[in-house]
Amino acid sequence: MSGSALFETFARAPLAFDRGEGSWLVTEDGERYLDFAAGIAVNSLGHSHPKLVAALTEQAAKLWHVSNLYEIPGQERLGARLVENSFADRVFFTNSGAEALECAIKTARRYHYAKGNPQRFRTITFEGAFHGRTLATIAAGGQQKYIDGFGPKVDGFDQVPFGDVAALENAIGPETAAILIEPIQGEGGIRPVPAAFMQKLRALCDQHDLMLILDEVQTGIGRSGKLFTYEWSGVSPDIMAIAKGIGGGFPLGACLATERAAMGMTAGVHGTTFGGNPLAMAVGNAVLDVVLEDGFLQAVNDKALIAKQSLASVVDEFPEIFEEVRGSGLLLGLKCKVPNTAVTAALRDEKLLVVPAGDNVIRLLPPLTVSDEEIRDAVARIHAAATVLTEAKKAAS
Ligand SMILES: *Cc1c(COP(=O)(O)O)cnc(C)c1O
Repeated sequence: MSGSALFETFARAPLAFDRGEGSWLVTEDGERYLDFAAGIAVNSLGHSHPKLVAALTEQAAKLWHVSNLYEIPGQERLGARLVENSFADRVFFTNSGAEALECAIKTARRYHYAKGNPQRFRTITFEGAFHGRTLATIAAGGQQKYIDGFGPKVDGFDQVPFGDVAALENAIGPETAAILIEPIQGEGGIRPVPAAFMQKLRALCDQHDLMLILDEVQTGIGRSGKLFTYEWSGVSPDIMAIAKGIGGGFPLGACLATERAAMGMTAGVHGTTFGGNPLAMAVGNAVLDVVLEDGFLQAVNDKALIAKQSLASVVDEFPEIFEEVRGSGLLLGLKCKVPNTAVTAALRDEKLLVVPAGDNVIRLLPPLTVSDEEIRDAVARIHAAATVLTEAKKAAS
């Protein structure tokens, strides 16, 4: 037995942090790391943002939990604001991304059930997808390494290759209820869905009365430079799952839907104990206060431009280490030519935190509040790590 009492499900870095300040994480020894992982796109406003700290502590002194047996004013307010700023008419609050996806999938199935078509329950998903770790969402994501050993795969998910229109059209059958997609694949390696493909999805959904479900758990709440990534394509979904950034570090997710899509979600058919609790609502509302401020998203796009341009020059300078820059806003990926785990470790040696992803990519997901100065600092650290990796490569050959 190892010295830890915890499940061995995470291959953790040997690093523990004591506190966070904006874009920085600090160890107990006072070592400072520049945090371009941001809890995997969760700490949207960085660490210890004064407005989030105030919102949480104020609410903590008043009321933590009452359950959804009663009205929760913070839920009404956050729900109304999400509706006002999106395609949606209705919102269901959850504690996590996977739960938001579960609600989205259930909402799509209930839509067809309510219309008298209970046989329509299948959802089409795309290779490289990630939708969470519950039994249904591992089936939706379709990644064998997450499915193996957990019994029969939950039925109702059909997967097609990313961007393959013919395979998609072929997969639509009499039992199909929905199409589920991330507008930019996150875990899959920062792979954006082209606008033309999004438009095709919308057209197919309209033609076959399918629910278009977007997984914006990672891409939402300003991450890609718009409040929601679907806005770049002009294509609205019927249902959308969000989480990560909306809570700024507090566990919070939501399923958003149009009135029509939510028609089957009637009293008693779905529920949650903790979802939408007053603490989460206080923080979610405070996150929106900041992200919806005039100029905030413009600043994200301005910073993204600086980041993308300077990363592109690092790629040019180290063609044996990096292949290309990907992504939108502050959801950026660097495709690597050496193992991305080695790059992640080399960057950790430079005290820059990033997140590996599929397709041999490292993700750069700084807080949306990151400064130009901190971006330049991060790029300098990437430059330094690439120099070390190049030397190591030369020595090995
Ligand atoms: C993180 C993530 C999820 C799962 O969220 P959890 O909060 O871990 O359940 C689902 N979809 C996408 C795109 C994600 O990035």
